Amino acid sequence: MAALEEGTAAPQAAGAAAPEGKPVVCTRFDSLGADGRSARLGIMGGTFDPIHIGHLAVAEQAREEMGLDAVVFIPAGNPVFKRDRAVTPAADRLEMCRLAVESNPFFDVSSIEIDRGGDTYTVDTLRQLRAHYPSNVELCFITGADAVASIVKWRESAAIAGLARLIAVTRPGFPLTCATRDQIAEAGRFDVSYMQATALSVSSSDLRARVASGRSIRYLTMARVRDYIQERGLYAPVPEAGEGKGASAR
Ligand code: ATP
Ligand code: MG
Repeated sequence: MAALEEGTAAPQAAGAAAPEGKPVVCTRFDSLGADGRSARLGIMGGTFDPIHIGHLAVAEQAREEMGLDAVVFIPAGNPVFKRDRAVTPAADRLEMCRLAVESNPFFDVSSIEIDRGGDTYTVDTLRQLRAHYPSNVELCFITGADAVASIVKWRESAAIAGLARLIAVTRPGFPLTCATRDQIAEAGRFDVSYMQATALSVSSSDLRARVASGRSIRYLTMARVRDYIQERGLYAPVPEAGEGKGASAR
């Protein structure tokens, strides 16, 4: 495990082996709550195509402000809201998440949505997590205001409300308005915490566009993720026959 950052305490169950010896959800926090103490697990869902500093900063801020013991990033296997474009292979998105969170001892990545196969629905993920963790672990689903706005369209949104607390966070261009709060109330009897996130106007779409046009993504994601994008040639336009090397992550 990476060395703990200055001024931080070790997460409750970091590095502990799963009861059966085999991690089911994630390596670092599989036994969270096994000691009977109350714990809060943050869940950061997304396509992460690619993961960027907006995702990471929101998760860290939620961990600190909402008293989360750990945050697990769960890349969607087959995101139903992104059928309009070709999503990068799950293995690459998962690996980029791994590279991005490795140095934070409070973060981990889970492949449960990818492993499950088929279309990805949040309700299935939360049911799986609820079945895995004891009842003293509160599940806290972190989501940006843009995603929250579509919450009424989520499959079994009312059931989701019974499975997890919702941590709704602001995103540049997407404030948490009264209308958003009404939409959440309409979707189910949610326990909601609202968080004013540090405004970082960054998106995966923008990173993809930058790489495709040969512009820099330095500082917009972790250096290791940038290197991975470059090595794998992700997001670069496919060169025409006879053309030189395509754009790469700079
Ligand atoms: P894309 O542009 O491909 O949609 P994205 O940047 O929106 O990518 P997603 O993987 O779609 O990233 O988002 C995962 C979650 O992270 C969502 O809940 C989204 O609202 C939140 N999120 C992403 N970027 C930010 C940001 N800059 N600030 C706050 N929340 C964010
Ligand atoms: Mg998005």
